[in-house]
Amino acid sequence: MPPRYEPRAIEVNWQKYWEERGLFNASEDPNRPKYYVLEMFPYPSGRIHMGHVRNYTIGDVVARYKRMQGFNVLHPMGWDAFGLPAENAAMAHNLHPAKWTYENITYMRDQLKALGYSYDWPRELATCDPEYYRWEQLIFIEMLRRGLAYKKKAPVNWCPKCLTVLANEQVEGGACWRCDSTVVLKELDQWFFKITAYGEELLSDLDHLPHWPERVLAMQRNWIGKSLGAEIRFPLAAGGEPITVFTTRADTVFGATFMSLAPEHPLALSLSRGTPQEAEVRRFVDYWRAQNRTRGLLEEISKEGVFTGAYCLNPVTGWRMPIYVANFVLMEYGTGAVMAVPAHDQRDFEFAQKYDLPIKVVIQPPGTKELLRTEAMAEAYEEDGVLVDSGDFTGLASAAARAAIAAYLEDQGWGRQTVNYRLRDWLISRQRYWGAPIPVIYCQRCGMVPVPEKDLPVVLPLDVEITGEGGSPLAQLASFTDVACPACGGPAKREVDTMDTFVESSWYFLRYACPDYSQGPLDPPRVNYWAPVDQYIGGIEHAVLHLLYSRFFTKVLRDLGLVRISEPFQRLLTQGMVLKEGAKMAKSKGNVVDPDDLIKAYGTDTTRLFLLFAAPPEKDLEWSDQGVAGCHRFLQRLWNLAHSLLPDMVRIPVYRGTGDDISPALWDFRHKVHKTIKKVTEDIEDSFHFNTAIAAVMELINAFYLAVDNIDRQQNKAANEVFREALEAIILLLNPMVPHIAEELWHTLGHTTSLQEVPWPVAQPEALEEPAFEVVVQVNGKKRGSIEAHAADHEAVIEAKALTDANIRKWILGREPKKIVWARNRRLINIVI
Ligand SMILES: [Zn+2]
Ligand SMILES: [Zn+2]
Repeated sequence: MPPRYEPRAIEVNWQKYWEERGLFNASEDPNRPKYYVLEMFPYPSGRIHMGHVRNYTIGDVVARYKRMQGFNVLHPMGWDAFGLPAENAAMAHNLHPAKWTYENITYMRDQLKALGYSYDWPRELATCDPEYYRWEQLIFIEMLRRGLAYKKKAPVNWCPKCLTVLANEQVEGGACWRCDSTVVLKELDQWFFKITAYGEELLSDLDHLPHWPERVLAMQRNWIGKSLGAEIRFPLAAGGEPITVFTTRADTVFGATFMSLAPEHPLALSLSRGTPQEAEVRRFVDYWRAQNRTRGLLEEISKEGVFTGAYCLNPVTGWRMPIYVANFVLMEYGTGAVMAVPAHDQRDFEFAQKYDLPIKVVIQPPGTKELLRTEAMAEAYEEDGVLVDSGDFTGLASAAARAAIAAYLEDQGWGRQTVNYRLRDWLISRQRYWGAPIPVIYCQRCGMVPVPEKDLPVVLPLDVEITGEGGSPLAQLASFTDVACPACGGPAKREVDTMDTFVESSWYFLRYACPDYSQGPLDPPRVNYWAPVDQYIGGIEHAVLHLLYSRFFTKVLRDLGLVRISEPFQRLLTQGMVLKEGAKMAKSKGNVVDPDDLIKAYGTDTTRLFLLFAAPPEKDLEWSDQGVAGCHRFLQRLWNLAHSLLPDMVRIPVYRGTGDDISPALWDFRHKVHKTIKKVTEDIEDSFHFNTAIAAVMELINAFYLAVDNIDRQQNKAANEVFREALEAIILLLNPMVPHIAEELWHTLGHTTSLQEVPWPVAQPEALEEPAFEVVVQVNGKKRGSIEAHAADHEAVIEAKALTDANIRKWILGREPKKIVWARNRRLINIVI
């Protein structure tokens, strides 16, 4: 009777074995290629959930696979440990955030260890550790020196429930990203990081990240939001300073038929001076200047205006454009003057209809047969399209035309191209307790003074009371706030804001290279050896926040001389969600599967295998209890197969022949083994398609069972050797996915060193050759036919087949062949008679 497959006993045993031997602890080795694989570190919320397990299992397969491929692999784990939930939990359970956080870390670390991940645990870090954030404070001070950190009064997004400021990235549709409360605007003194200084580089470097998902690249491009606009100057018909407008729609300039000025525009009154219109213009301007006009209210009022009596010239068409003063143009937006394009702007359209001004269509919707006609228009066509009636630019698409027209205007001296970004500076101040203190002191005499490096870290005091009322608890703690000014020694106050926790996660991946380094944030030789991360794995929800900030921070650290790289993550994989009954697992939906329960019932290997097998990593995965049971049965089947071949296997060597000495059936089986090695390698290497890789091994095991039944091992001396070769290949191929059962079987086969140090198998070219091939048969140098041969056939077997073939026998005429000549790599024989 073979031993029972008892996963938990095996798993605990091998986890201990690996840890005791430090098999996953990396150190720099200039003689081996390095590979840095990283999963986004978790927030220590209390328990590992199935989404984590999927994320980390993918990373672990990559780490183990790359180790077997000969890479020096760094695969660390840590904790994104500051943040609001700790404070909320503190209030709810009367527990200090530090205690809550560290208890959760202890529990979750044990969970991760039970899952058998090949982490380099000695590198573990927690961002709430002063030994971590002291370096962040130092980086902050360096950024302050370079003007990359600054303070200004700003209307900020304020979450009334979380009682804190939110970055723009943290407001989703007007609501707090964390609690969904409606965000309000509040005017406060806030710290910012000048991410806009890197806007262009953050955008253009996206072109050099071919191994990032297109969707993430698109989201970052959109977030940075570079748009090209144009400033255009319209000369006055009567001479003098031209009128300057700003537009994002330079493609419509051929349709500009009049000009609208804000009532506050300096030309509004001066143009009409001394003309019959003067009195009317003055009445209009006085009236509308007195009104409280905001962009919101403009939608409500009816569009009104008054002709100034003056004209300007459209610089591209030469048209005389009447100049109006209009109540819907605002001075504080743009230049206070608007080129009116009634066919393609709804407000201009309504205005033109009211005052009977010309409307000229210059953009046609793309791909429609029905052309826009001025007479038939009920409203403006505001979308992009194809240019018509636009001189040399006719036929261009709007986007191309915007650039081309701006360039033309610049060339002619009538304007210039302008660049705008949606990206705003990163607001990092948080009026919260559980975060890294901002290392700044305010002195009545010296003003703002950065904390000197020797006084770092500014340690977050632990003796606070967290009530959730009255703002930050730090502000109420005199022992923290009241200090002597580092410059003059006079009385001074500490900054009480803490940093957004996204600051910690913007550089932790670099600190893993040297978590114990005490001379600075990063140890140059170590960080330059490991950086960048070769493969980063995490959720798509971080497409803008974390992934953009990390890219920004990497560039800043490069400019501070701390790293050589410009981009932190070479390849990015965004894994899909784990769904149950079509919905993301959530306590509130009651559809959560707890990893702990699953490990108890089936073991870690089954859990890992299911998460890898059920879907490709980037796709959502639907939970299936049957699927889990099926994966467990598969491992049981592998276990039984191995044990059915034991104990004979222990003393049998792996087959080392070329295939000439084995029967066709055995040859075919061996061919399948090597084809599987090739497929699994390609599936993992090219695309991390673990599901198809696993399916291929499952097929191989089916074929293995058939081979064991059908091939007589007594008759076939090499059979046991081929079976041993196959069994070892299967164990090696499955090791990254199910390392515990793999290691157990490996040792059962008689090996005494860890499977984790054995190289990845390589498919042998001769075993990959298709087993059946055609042999051309000549008689005395003339082709007379062909026969089917098998790779395992001896030459004598093939010759006998040729000599007995009915077609060829006709040409041999019953004679005894003088000799048989082989040619073309066993694909041709010539029978000489
Ligand atoms: Zn909130
Ligand atoms: Zn001072």
